[in-house]
Amino acid sequence: MQQIPPLWLSPESHLARSAPDHPILYFSPRVLHEVARRFSQGFPGLVTYAVKANPHPAVLSNLVAAGITAFDVASPAEMEAVRAASPDAVMHYNNPMRSEAEIAAGIEHGVASWSVDELSELEKLDAVPRACEIAVRFALPVAGAAYDFGSKFGAAPEEAVELLKQVAAKGWTPALCFHPGTQCEDEMAWVEYVHAAKRIVDAAGVRIARLNVGGGFAANRDGVAPDLEKVFAAIGTAADQAFGAEKPTLICEPGRAMVSESFTLAARIKGMRKDGAVVFLNDGIYGGLVDIRDMGLPGRVEVVASDGTHRSGVRKPRVVFGPTCDSLDRLPDGLPLPCDCVAGDYVLFPGLGAYSSAMSTQFNGYGLSDVATVIELAGQAAR
Ligand code: PLP
Repeated sequence: MQQIPPLWLSPESHLARSAPDHPILYFSPRVLHEVARRFSQGFPGLVTYAVKANPHPAVLSNLVAAGITAFDVASPAEMEAVRAASPDAVMHYNNPMRSEAEIAAGIEHGVASWSVDELSELEKLDAVPRACEIAVRFALPVAGAAYDFGSKFGAAPEEAVELLKQVAAKGWTPALCFHPGTQCEDEMAWVEYVHAAKRIVDAAGVRIARLNVGGGFAANRDGVAPDLEKVFAAIGTAADQAFGAEKPTLICEPGRAMVSESFTLAARIKGMRKDGAVVFLNDGIYGGLVDIRDMGLPGRVEVVASDGTHRSGVRKPRVVFGPTCDSLDRLPDGLPLPCDCVAGDYVLFPGLGAYSSAMSTQFNGYGLSDVATVIELAGQAAR
């Protein structure tokens, strides 16, 4: 992926000047700093970042500059990326299924906290220093998320009780963690989990110093900024009510909500068919638009002509295909685009910082987007 030098421009003027024929992600460090500040000031505990959402070096170094000191990593490659951004960063290795080689890499990188959701996986962690924390990940059948992770990871509460006892008995610092599922728009999901954590602690007879409430915080998908503060307050109140004086330190590890808003993806219209009812873009579900396949169409899309002006015609729902020869390379039907858009225009997708470039493949030779950092002029409004 090519790193374009910082632009003292808007995406529109960059598109007009350079007419790129490949997808571009425009990155606003200012927006990333604002979101990081919102988490740090509002969340009642330690804020970490889930690297998987976007491991780009510019994201990691800006988060370090914004005061984020701890990172959730899922693999040795993510550990390397974090170390490159900050040699002192604290790492939480919260992928509960690891090979022996991955465990050795985690020990080598000085991972401070490890999650586990099964006894056989805990047994594999025997070489992990006893000064480390091991957080038992549990899962509940709660609703509220766009899609939930409980079918893949997380012990049932009864199993979590036994695991927590084992972690304490083997001499590590015991903790609990969960993830309510991504793009979770109902704060009651966290509330239910926090109360369940207290029941697990009581049943195990083990005190925990920290409770990791996961990521899952919602990003802005339809133009309405999610009320993160309401979720933060609900989590804090639930922890107070459930644990009282024995309240553990809370940790969160947002990926999507932290990084989404600071990126806008620009994909070019390659061609159109059936009087514009069918649109072919130069990015699709094997590239930076993969999250749209899973999350549904976003509510905010703009079309910019090759001179940088915005198309303002009446919007018509389209069938949108990506550039590869695979017929599955198609967005959910009905993306509303202005009636005056033509081949050569750019479709701007704001809020595509998470699970875009991180999941992009090079299938058919397409996919990877350049990242252009946009340094906005003073007073320029956020998109
Ligand atoms: N933490 C863990 C352990 C995860 O697996 C994930 C996502 O897969 C995240 C945090 C980030 O979740 P989100 O992007 O929904 O905030």
